[in-house]
Amino acid sequence: MTLNHGRTLMAIPGPSVIPDRVLAAMHRPAPNIYEGPLIDLTEGLIQDLKKVARTDGDAVIYLGNGHSAWEAAISNTLSRGDDVLIIATGRFADGWAEIARGMGVKVQILDFGTAADADPEHLEQVLRDDREHRLRAVMLVHTDTASSVKNDIPAIRRAMNAAGHPALLMVDCIASFACDEYHMDDWGVDVTVAACQKGLMTPPGMSMLFFNAKAAKARSRADLVTSYWDWEKRVRAEIFAHRWAGTAPTHHLFGLREALDMILYEETLPHVWARHTLFAQAIWAAIEAWGQSGDLRLNISDPAKRSSAVTTVWTGHDDANRLRSWCEDFAGLTLGLGISLTEMDGSPGGNLFRIGHMGHLNVPMIMATLGTIDAGLKALNIPHHDAGLTAATQVISGFESPG
Ligand SMILES: *Cc1c(COP(=O)(O)O)cnc(C)c1O
Repeated sequence: MTLNHGRTLMAIPGPSVIPDRVLAAMHRPAPNIYEGPLIDLTEGLIQDLKKVARTDGDAVIYLGNGHSAWEAAISNTLSRGDDVLIIATGRFADGWAEIARGMGVKVQILDFGTAADADPEHLEQVLRDDREHRLRAVMLVHTDTASSVKNDIPAIRRAMNAAGHPALLMVDCIASFACDEYHMDDWGVDVTVAACQKGLMTPPGMSMLFFNAKAAKARSRADLVTSYWDWEKRVRAEIFAHRWAGTAPTHHLFGLREALDMILYEETLPHVWARHTLFAQAIWAAIEAWGQSGDLRLNISDPAKRSSAVTTVWTGHDDANRLRSWCEDFAGLTLGLGISLTEMDGSPGGNLFRIGHMGHLNVPMIMATLGTIDAGLKALNIPHHDAGLTAATQVISGFESPG
């Protein structure tokens, strides 16, 4: 007999928990896609998405998952045979690199391993060595969802400026968008990539690109730009269907409207960021306390380098799989699968799991996640120090609102 008879709690790094209000907003008949309210609705969404990205640049929404925005970013800025530098801090750089290579772009990888962020000084040296400025773009993730590292984007931009290098800076914010603090314009990012199913709390199916004037200029020489991905056609659309290169993702738009109302106009973005920081700190405190005996430990040791949206945890051999199974099948909590970080892990992810803590979450959801893990550790006799939950509640009780 299991104890899994309530609503299953999802703690995976996307799709995140979808608010009932978002689901309800989508529950309606199909609207007119040629004229009427959908047109203004979309314009409002574009403006509000730009507020989340903190940019005055342009924005487009694609029907697609995060991979579609990866491809769109390359298509609009690069030509076949161009060189780019992809910074790797986990497995997610591989995905973007694979798409770039498939499109005929020459990829140079600058690899910082799977337990640290990108080193700006090292980047600066690589860019200085590129005297002919062959590299057209520097591409990296803000948060790597496999390692749960967070890269220091302003430091990356400073390194590019210090090297006097003209490459575009393209940042994948899929796992950090509306979770971790981000300022596209102030941080000097040229292209930002996002998707709707993580911090934006909307079912998977839409991705977003944000781009500034410098990136728009790159678009005019890019020979990889195709009719479907062309952001220019979408931004300057004279008829509504051109914005989508076809049918709009109608119901997703209603859902996203509700989600953005919650984020921007009810909770407000600074509070959303602060809430994510607090919940992340509570989770880190629990893992660190449990890990005072046994094998449990955080993959990223420096708190300043950790994502506020996802946490990667090491366990003893196969304990991660046993714990995930117990939590999901017996208790009703779905934890994130560990994405293998090295070739040496043995069974892929068998000693790694991830906790997704992005989006529509409150204190009971965080404490239920930690409490279920605590019970699982005990039920499975996985060695741990018995102080994890107290450590988490101490963090939460000390919360001070950002105003
Ligand atoms: C989830 C994620 C992706 C991939 O998004 P899909 O919707 O699965 O294509 C890419 N990059 C990062 C950082 C992510 O977290």
